[in-house]
Amino acid sequence: MDRTPASGLLPKPPAEVAFSAARVRADFPILGTTERGKPLVYLDNAATTQKPTAVLDAMRGYFEEYCANIHRGAYAMSAKATDAYEGVREKVRRLINARRTDEIVYVRGTTEAINLVSHSWGLKYLKPGDEILITEMEHHSNIVPWQIAAQRTGATLRWVGLRDDGTLELEAFDRLLTPRTKLVAVTQCSNVLGTINPIVEIVQRARRVGALVLVDAAQSVPNMPVDVQLLGCDFLAFSGHKMCGPTGVGILYARRELLDAMDPWLGGGDMIREVRMEGSTWNELPWKFEAGTPAIAEVIGLGAAIDYLAGIGIARIRNHEQGLAAYALERLRGLGPDVRIFGPRLACHRGGVVAFTVGDVHPHDLATIVDQDGVCVRAGHHCAQPIMRRFGVAATARASFYFYNTEEEVDVLIDSLRRAREFFQGGAR
Ligand code: PLP
Repeated sequence: MDRTPASGLLPKPPAEVAFSAARVRADFPILGTTERGKPLVYLDNAATTQKPTAVLDAMRGYFEEYCANIHRGAYAMSAKATDAYEGVREKVRRLINARRTDEIVYVRGTTEAINLVSHSWGLKYLKPGDEILITEMEHHSNIVPWQIAAQRTGATLRWVGLRDDGTLELEAFDRLLTPRTKLVAVTQCSNVLGTINPIVEIVQRARRVGALVLVDAAQSVPNMPVDVQLLGCDFLAFSGHKMCGPTGVGILYARRELLDAMDPWLGGGDMIREVRMEGSTWNELPWKFEAGTPAIAEVIGLGAAIDYLAGIGIARIRNHEQGLAAYALERLRGLGPDVRIFGPRLACHRGGVVAFTVGDVHPHDLATIVDQDGVCVRAGHHCAQPIMRRFGVAATARASFYFYNTEEEVDVLIDSLRRAREFFQGGAR
């Protein structure tokens, strides 16, 4: 097609160039490799994502050119490391539209972010008779910290159930939200069902009873625009490794007033203002919550990942993933009536995660067989055992997409699943 503008008008700016998964794949060294002699088809992005050269280079650059500890060094190399590390806070702030950089706390990941809140906020403010409201679709990392906090404080955990289509029973919120509810902890996007939850509506309902809201954004920040001011939430947690960044770094966003009132969880270097033998005082926000030498290279890598994703455009990433999820749903349904798909029917109500079973083939067997074709999918309970119980299964297979995946890769998965079913069920007949 001739793209020369006939009118002499300027060509469209690069931001309008259509997204091409094929083009971005070149940025990821691993995506050009083979597994078992077949091109790698990586469909386990809800577990962790692959890393583009820009992220690898940023981390390597730190190690090769200015590897020094941060904050305390008077020499230039330490100042450079400090600037690089602290500069990422502004990138994160912009990514989620927080008001201030001191509302951005570096942690190891979503799990640590939620544990920080359950310890620093939960143990301080929860008391017998209080209630924490969570949902049946939470990842274990948004369940277990609240069970521990409830045990220690005498608070009670309440659960919002799921409808058969994998959406939340929103009516239950109205029933379960009472003045006793102190916190609602909910995922924005399920890592099993793919369900995208109406956080704005949940926050509005929680506000009516004065409850705070924590959003597990592990599966949303990497994949769709997230704006904490628009959501109105109090806490938001996510992991760098699910958004092209390295493992070992994640973010806790919290409103400044809350962080101010909370006590530190970990004690040690950097989180103090003054240490005396009779006691210590705390550093300013956000460093009050960042004890010890942090994951410097990883934070720098996360910054490069955010730049990289911003270059593509998070809205485009969402679009592409929704298209892939729609295609995968259609192709899976086409495999036959013995394919059971979990979660909402329509791709517009879900992220790029599709969990399924095929007849009575064990999901682990499915994953093992498709691995022979170079396809990486996950099988198991996906750290969400209450979902498995709700839907009466012990495990599912799960394909999860990112912006670098293609419809051709979905086709490889489907062909491979067909062979897996023939192998197990054909052989058994
Ligand atoms: N929450 C959700 C919805 C997740 O999918 C995950 C990871 O799979 C987590 C929390 C925990 O993330 P991490 O292991 O990076 O702390």
